[in-house]
Amino acid sequence: MKHIGVIGGGIAGLGLSIDLAKRGFKATVFEKNRYPNHKVCGEYVSAEASPYLNYLGVLIKMSDCPRINQLEVSSPKGRIFKTKMKMGGIGISRYAFDDLLYKRALELKVDFVFEEVAEANETEISTKADKTFQFDRVIGSFGKRSNLDLKWNRAFAMKSKNSLNQWVGIKYHIDYDGIDDKTIALHNFDHGYCGISKVEKGRACLCYLVSSKVMKNKTIPELEAEVLKRNPHLKTIFEKSSSLYDKPLAISQISFDKKTLKQSNVSFIGDAAGLITPLCGNGMSLALRSAKMMAESISDDSLEYEVHWKKVIAPRLWWGRQIQRGFGNVRLSEVLVAICRLFPFLGKFLVSKSHGDEF
Ligand SMILES: Cc1cc2nc3c(=O)[nH]c(=O)nc-3n(C[C@H](O)[C@H](O)[C@H](O)COP(=O)(O)OP(=O)(O)OC[C@H]3O[C@@H](n4cnc5c(N)ncnc54)[C@H](O)[C@@H]3O)c2cc1C
Repeated sequence: MKHIGVIGGGIAGLGLSIDLAKRGFKATVFEKNRYPNHKVCGEYVSAEASPYLNYLGVLIKMSDCPRINQLEVSSPKGRIFKTKMKMGGIGISRYAFDDLLYKRALELKVDFVFEEVAEANETEISTKADKTFQFDRVIGSFGKRSNLDLKWNRAFAMKSKNSLNQWVGIKYHIDYDGIDDKTIALHNFDHGYCGISKVEKGRACLCYLVSSKVMKNKTIPELEAEVLKRNPHLKTIFEKSSSLYDKPLAISQISFDKKTLKQSNVSFIGDAAGLITPLCGNGMSLALRSAKMMAESISDDSLEYEVHWKKVIAPRLWWGRQIQRGFGNVRLSEVLVAICRLFPFLGKFLVSKSHGDEF
């Protein structure tokens, strides 16, 4: 039985390990954090991944989670555009989602090593605790930015600041009655945007992405008071909700730049291969899609992962990069929302571009 080593047990790594186990492979996942844990993420899973989640055996356990099919976008001054989403998605916290996948992987006898990986190549993984493991093949699913990106001098991690790589992500779970289970709202503000939607147990996830340019010398409460609350919808949300965290979760140096698909003969899936802007609300389903492609190519040598990835995923990342470049610009957001209000079919078209086909 072939043994595959998987670096990183987020959505992509867990999806891959379950899929491989179902196909009769042995998989070992290396993960630096214990489950369950909170992650910075908007927590909206596009329904394009539903058939695959069903195949992995977890969709049924998501039946109590909100089904989201309505989008609201507000401009920095508060003008609102609303549209129905044809595809829609599911609201589930990363705390619950990663743990669900982890438990499913355990059921299928996937092994876990809870250590940080320090070095790897095509067939070998070494952890920070100086242990080395051998495999038939090693796959990297270590997310948007990892110690391994620096170790391998990956080009995107070495780049100086540009419009695609200087983003900061902040997330809370909040108690808030002002949004229903079916709606995801995207509120724009100067140099950023904030998503809010419900997840399981009536909580709402509030997650925003902001350029480090406006973060400079500001604390998070100052940023929210001086920048985000200028959007009247965000002002209402912050004033009428209470945080369920002691303090928000934050990550910096988020990069949407192009990445390589392979390094040191380790092939990448999920964010390690490329991160899509959260505006396209879709990173988790793309992570699962790349996991599926990788599992298929491992079990059938004639299917080339890279060729398939470039055909299906690369164009969506390209589209996401173009959208991301224009966002955060107050005037452009005002104009875009005004145009979508006048021509709703244009808004529908943009939303349809952000969701792919079911897989
Ligand atoms: C602000 C923001 C909001 C977002 N909102 C959404 C959304 O609403 N919907 C959506 O679909 N997507 C969203 N995304 C994108 C989504 O979060 C990612 O695309 C998704 O998490 C990718 O999964 P992954 O498995 O590749 O990476 P991750 O889920 O990040 O998993 C990587 C794992 O690797 C582990 N790891 C890293 N390095 C090592 C190491 N050296 N050794 C061992 N373990 C390691 C980490 O601990 C982590 O568990 C958002 C992203 C951002 C930044």
